[in-house]
Amino acid sequence: MPTQGFCTVIVGCQWGDEGKGKIVDVLAEGVDIVARYQGGANAGHTVHVGEDEFILHQIPSGVLHPGRRCLLGNGVVLDIRQFFEEYDELLERGVELEGRVGVSRRAQLLLPYHKLLDKAVENAAATKIGTTGRGIGPAYEDKAGRRGLRVADLGNPERLHKRVAAAQERIMRRLEQLGAGVTDELEAAMEEALGLGERLLSIATDTGPEITDALNAGKRVLLEGAQGTALDLDHGTYPFVTSSNTTAASAATGTGIGPTSIDAVVGVVKAYTTRVGEGPLPSAFSPEMDEHVRTLGSEFGATTGRPRRCGWFDSVLARHAARVNGLTGLAVTKLDVLDTLPTLEVATAYRMPDGSIAENFPADTWSLSSVEPIYESLPGWQAPTGEVRKLEDLPSNARAYLDRIEELSGAPVRWVSVGTKRSQIIPVG
Ligand code: GDP
Repeated sequence: MPTQGFCTVIVGCQWGDEGKGKIVDVLAEGVDIVARYQGGANAGHTVHVGEDEFILHQIPSGVLHPGRRCLLGNGVVLDIRQFFEEYDELLERGVELEGRVGVSRRAQLLLPYHKLLDKAVENAAATKIGTTGRGIGPAYEDKAGRRGLRVADLGNPERLHKRVAAAQERIMRRLEQLGAGVTDELEAAMEEALGLGERLLSIATDTGPEITDALNAGKRVLLEGAQGTALDLDHGTYPFVTSSNTTAASAATGTGIGPTSIDAVVGVVKAYTTRVGEGPLPSAFSPEMDEHVRTLGSEFGATTGRPRRCGWFDSVLARHAARVNGLTGLAVTKLDVLDTLPTLEVATAYRMPDGSIAENFPADTWSLSSVEPIYESLPGWQAPTGEVRKLEDLPSNARAYLDRIEELSGAPVRWVSVGTKRSQIIPVG
């Protein structure tokens, strides 16, 4: 990475859980600021430092590198209680945070009633989205509906309480319509959340000017995406998506910098595919293979513990991600999980229900359930890769697999991750 002002976006290119946390953690070594630009506590980045495991939901993964400034941009929906739980846990575990974490004054507040509503809507829905129940959808709905509350509102108690009362009344009516009960716990949870307002204001900032000034001063910045391209509100498998734009363009909107300030976009892809929650997964494995790879790759959600569905690498999706995000490079993770497989398949195109061949990711999500992926077989390498640190030391079949991923995706492979540890990374080129 160059030494002068440089801004890199890290974005998931599948259905999330690609290992962005690990890649951000590795790249954070060479930067000054790491900022989140969308999502909320529905993200779950797992980072291993030595023998310690950290699961970060809202605070950027760069926090585990001493001295890096970690920001939450205006594009995030901030669950104050969970944010401080995470913050205090990091403090308890000895992570120095003084002056290191900042939250945009423009960030939306996710309040306890959003969570109640999220669960009630999902329970009542005919088509389940498979939400994490963390209130993300309702909080973004309030944002788009111009009824949301922002961090800055915490500075004016009178206005805040008026707006909270109005929001609560509205949400109670919706809950009633949905046949969901409201417990006394809501009142206490609201009090607790708003009681943390002063504390939050003490670390509030304006992320746009802060990041722009840092870049102008020659600093290096990472903008960290949550979830993945196939979960993007516009470019993903709508309606089985998250409620924000996860893709790289959103990194500018979600932090308050201009798009021309972005210098590079690194797309994170697993060497295979996984999906948690509802919705189609075109390159899904057979049930036996699914179970096998889920075990090999420990594919269970960091936020919900739900088993992830697994499948072959899908280059139709990877090409879509490369274009939508304008990828300048790929980070391929979990190559080691495939070490024992004798043969690997890669989806190169989809045969659509009408017999036509699609090389671009189709807009009609419902058709994705009945597409037939066209696979190309590649020989496995059947050798351990966890200790490899140089590309040329990888088995030749593993290199051929990476070459094919690069060719089909249209973006150069820049990093290969071969294990959970920080050291288990192969820089390419
Ligand atoms: P994220 O949300 O994209 O950060 O992904 P998660 O944290 O949900 O999932 C990634 C999981 O895979 C974590 O437990 C990581 O420690 C683990 N992981 C990341 N890279 C690798 C890798 O190269 N090999 C293996 N075996 N595990 C990895």
